[in-house]
Amino acid sequence: MPISFLIIGVVMASKEILFRDAENALLDSYGVNAFNLRAMEDYLPKKAFKAMKDTIEKGKPLPFGIEDDVAKGMTEWAISKGATHYTHWFLPLTGTTAEKHDSFINPKGSSGAVLSFKGSQLIQGEPDASSFPSGGLRATFEARGYTAWDPTSPAFLKYMNEGPTLCIPTAFASYTGEALDKKTPLLRSMEALSTSVRRFIKVFDGSVGETKAFATLGVEQEYFLVDREIYLARPDLIQMGRTLFGRTPAKHQQMDDHYFGSIKRRVLAFMNDVDRECWKLGIPAKTRHNEVSPAQFEIAPVFEELNLSVDHNMMLMQILKETAESHGLVALLHEKPFAGVNGSGKHNNWSLSDPSGNNMLEPGNSPHENAKFLAVLGAIIRGVDKYSRLLRSVVASAGNDHRLGANEAPPAIISIFLGDQLTDIIEQIEKGSASTSKAKDVMKLGVTSLPDLPKDVTDRNRTSPFAFTGNKFEFRAVGSAQSCAGPNVVLNTIVAESLDEITDVLEKAGSKTEMNELLHKQLTYIVKKHKRILFNGDNYSKEWALEAEKRGLPNIKSTYDALSAIISKESVELFTKYRVLSETELKSRYNIYTESYETIVSMEGECALNMVKTMYLPSVCDHLRSLAETINSMKHLGDTKSLKALSENLKFISSLTADAYDGASKLEKALAKGKPKEILKEMSALRASIDALEGEVDDALWPVPKYKDLLFVY
Ligand code: ADP
Ligand code: MG
Repeated sequence: MPISFLIIGVVMASKEILFRDAENALLDSYGVNAFNLRAMEDYLPKKAFKAMKDTIEKGKPLPFGIEDDVAKGMTEWAISKGATHYTHWFLPLTGTTAEKHDSFINPKGSSGAVLSFKGSQLIQGEPDASSFPSGGLRATFEARGYTAWDPTSPAFLKYMNEGPTLCIPTAFASYTGEALDKKTPLLRSMEALSTSVRRFIKVFDGSVGETKAFATLGVEQEYFLVDREIYLARPDLIQMGRTLFGRTPAKHQQMDDHYFGSIKRRVLAFMNDVDRECWKLGIPAKTRHNEVSPAQFEIAPVFEELNLSVDHNMMLMQILKETAESHGLVALLHEKPFAGVNGSGKHNNWSLSDPSGNNMLEPGNSPHENAKFLAVLGAIIRGVDKYSRLLRSVVASAGNDHRLGANEAPPAIISIFLGDQLTDIIEQIEKGSASTSKAKDVMKLGVTSLPDLPKDVTDRNRTSPFAFTGNKFEFRAVGSAQSCAGPNVVLNTIVAESLDEITDVLEKAGSKTEMNELLHKQLTYIVKKHKRILFNGDNYSKEWALEAEKRGLPNIKSTYDALSAIISKESVELFTKYRVLSETELKSRYNIYTESYETIVSMEGECALNMVKTMYLPSVCDHLRSLAETINSMKHLGDTKSLKALSENLKFISSLTADAYDGASKLEKALAKGKPKEILKEMSALRASIDALEGEVDDALWPVPKYKDLLFVY
């Protein structure tokens, strides 16, 4: 062999080695902070490992008595990584995460101690629940709350530095068994969905495997980054997570130069750390980019089983905040930190996986698959139309109110985008049963020899709140700070109900042909009844709001009005039927969310008033004084032209100041009355005066950093 070939061979081989080394190094650290199946295989006895694997991968219930082995293995793993404490990690109704740490230390004898953690401590905890919102479910004297281990979501280590804490994902319920958290109803809704999907598959395929069906979720998370020093000079950002005042700077997002723009070094360094933290926890962070507004960014992991994905998103939000801090930055997760530029959302990409792991929203190639796909599509159309108020209610929050319908995010009107090709098929289905005798032909045609459905949906619509994107639905109305649990509880349950309605009919069929006919009839019925929810046009346009009104679609603009759907008759019927939430639990949630909304609005009002009285107005007065002094000292010059100009300016600013004083006193009155609508109205009037003053007053006197500093200096 010529020597040159040898060299090339060696170079190629060493390239391969370099690649493998790098790949291995990266993959070695992937998931190291999670007690996942890889760690379990090393730390659990064979029997316990198999049981955990079956639970995680197949959704089988965990056999009794396994918990001691799991607790032992989990503790050994955690302690070997330096953990000294554990916590039951849960998702209370505040919308954030909660943890109460206990150390593994147990005193032994007179001067010693051992580290220990028992199975009983793994499966159940009893944190004092009295300070968590319960919405009337529990009085403080009956403060007991229980956390129950969720074995399907891997325990993980928080903080990689010294002394990480073992976090065990749990559900949180009251002494009487009522859910006090977001995970419990989510798990119940997954159960309901699986049952319905399995029934549906069985009727289609004649049999169904032993494993569960589940929903999949991929979450796109938007956020802002601001410099920490600048942030610390804004009391509104510190307290409320959004600016309550601030003039839009001359240049903001008009040039579209931030979206997908090259990422600044400091931000990229931050993103690198975020990705690495995510990977260590087994969160499959995938995409990262600049978003539309200056200082706005997005991160999206690869989709996962829904419950895990919801937990991972909660962890991701925490990682964003903590990592930002170590880079001298602050990550803002609020839906609308800055007026005048885009707000942040959380795209909830949802799909369904059958018990064999096939994506049921994959249009597929064969007519049989297509029929299944169309049935699922029909189920979703029915569910979203029938329960659009409920879907609106779960994305309702004080923060999201500023974003929905503000020409940057879907409006408060829930509708579905299907794209041209699917719409065409839906229209064919609708026509299918227009006349009875012909209908049969079309019906047969429609189901047994459907055209290949489009795999790659080329048309995209960024304005729709609920869009079909090739093999999943993207619910875009979710707010960036919200937990995805609520929206998916609704999605899972409404689809479970819709599938059941379809399966109820299909089960009556005596043959495959009859089943196809029945399905076609069902689909025609669904399309006719629910097509008003379908809309492919521009959801941001005024015309759509008018059109939607004609179609009778609700357009619920404020959280206050949206929340009542939670306790509506149809919601109570749906959730009790599927045992996802009882009437009491729904009422408690309604109370908590309403109260939280009122509290946020009034806190914002207080914060705004305080800033105006103690920061803005004193600065404005300084400016007025110096202007008045200038005028006085210039009088002897007798320059009437400049005196006139200065006096007019003084008059103008003092009239704006009078407006601000007036606005502050009106806000104070509204706050005393405590009506959110009025508070918000007065806050926005007051903001208008202050923002106008910001454009007049000496920059050096302005008491807080401006948008130009917040949005561009990071
Ligand atoms: P885009 O911005 O075009 O919507 P992204 O790649 O940012 O696309 O996000 C799409 C998200 O949808 C990702 O999290 C992706 O993993 C997720 N996704 C893809 N397929 C599915 C599926 N079958 N179920 C749930 N989520 C999915
Ligand atoms: Mg998207």
